[in-house]
Amino acid sequence: MNKEIPYKIYLEESEMPKSWYNLRADMKNKPAPLLNPKTFEPMTYEDLRPVFCDELIRQELDDQTAYIPIPDEIRNFYKMYRPAPLVRAYCLEEKLQTPAKIYYKFEGNNTSGSHKLNSAIAQAYYAKKQGLKGVTTETGAGQWGTALSMACAYLGLDCNVFMVKVSYEQKPFRREVMRTYGASVTPSPSETTKVGREILKKHPGTGGSLGCAISEAVESASEREGYRYVLGSVLNQVMLHQSIIGLETKAALDKYGVVPDIIIGCAGGGSNLGGLIAPFMGEKLRGERDYRFIAVEPASCPSLTRGKFAYDYCDTGMVCPLSKMYTLGSGFIPSSSHSGGLRYHGMNSVLSQLYDDGLMEAVSVEQTSVFEAAQMFAKVEGILPAPESSHAIRVAINEALKCKETGEEKTIVFGLTGTGYFDMVAYQKYNDGLMSDYIPTDEDLAVGFAGLPIVPEK
Ligand SMILES: *Cc1c(COP(=O)(O)O)cnc(C)c1O
Repeated sequence: MNKEIPYKIYLEESEMPKSWYNLRADMKNKPAPLLNPKTFEPMTYEDLRPVFCDELIRQELDDQTAYIPIPDEIRNFYKMYRPAPLVRAYCLEEKLQTPAKIYYKFEGNNTSGSHKLNSAIAQAYYAKKQGLKGVTTETGAGQWGTALSMACAYLGLDCNVFMVKVSYEQKPFRREVMRTYGASVTPSPSETTKVGREILKKHPGTGGSLGCAISEAVESASEREGYRYVLGSVLNQVMLHQSIIGLETKAALDKYGVVPDIIIGCAGGGSNLGGLIAPFMGEKLRGERDYRFIAVEPASCPSLTRGKFAYDYCDTGMVCPLSKMYTLGSGFIPSSSHSGGLRYHGMNSVLSQLYDDGLMEAVSVEQTSVFEAAQMFAKVEGILPAPESSHAIRVAINEALKCKETGEEKTIVFGLTGTGYFDMVAYQKYNDGLMSDYIPTDEDLAVGFAGLPIVPEK
């Protein structure tokens, strides 16, 4: 059935998925529940209501419903920038002289420049439907904040973004995109919250971290009438919304009778990877088909490959629920020489469970090798990739080069999560030969592990 495969496989609008797929429904070993950080009891719907939107809590806690319909309003918004193309990387294959067949799903075709808009519009929609005034969130590099400000502008919601201070200062363009969409952007840690003031007192002059910005955003939402907190990664609801990536990928491959051997994605909090692999992993869990799945993370922030599978805080201020995940400890802050994104200390609990059950592999890669791959890809495929996405490119190239040695014609699919236009400071470092690789020592990691909470066995 292998018809001549075009460079780009587009789906028709009518072929776009009508439901998200909830991988948890097919897992025998379900991910562990979120726990209340004070009582260590599983978080209930009522516990979560002061912080999160009602419908999103239902999605977060639902590990039984396999297909959750995408509301028409969200599908219509998706249609402005989706279906996203699945690209056959003929030029990269040629460059590598590999018998492997390489495909990538490109999620950078929207102003936010990444896949994050897929969940931003869903979360903003449910907040609006609940009659809320606005939402608060954190952003690191800025993609999530940008995506959320776009979604909020579209729906007429107020959007308050706590942006990690170093990024706020180093990435003024991303900040201004958010403000242009009407969001208010506060550098974190800030004097506007209790937790921010505490962190500033303890660490004067700190450039902030994602975990710290999360604490501020949560506090700011829970103390204001008509506001809730939303998060762009890590949570199960985000992975659910991102299943659109995998469902479209599978539909496009099915059109041409292509079955992948290896599926690769970069992993920060795990949402794009989880979304990309979801329908394929579902087949594997149901015993219908086998695939290799590879999560790629930076060597400087190696939560899957060197972390512990344990309950941990999702934020530095320890106000969020505890999640059982692969983690480096909520106090872990990656080295300042790390510029390639993916700097969150933990990993989505579904992916953590799948990894622990041996259903998925993980590798870590060093940032200079990531930028080398990014440059090679940009030269032949024409897209300047985001540093985060380039982790997946690195490993896709490595796997394709292995095929060259063995002569195997494997089919490799990877997620190209976004473009790198706003990451030019990192590219500049690379071009100037000033980028270094940093791998934390076991002693460095021990500091983060020492801060893991002790959760009583039930
Ligand atoms: C946020 C982001 C990631 C990492 O987040 P996940 O939740 O792990 O997907 C990867 N690539 C890009 C371009 C991003 O903006």
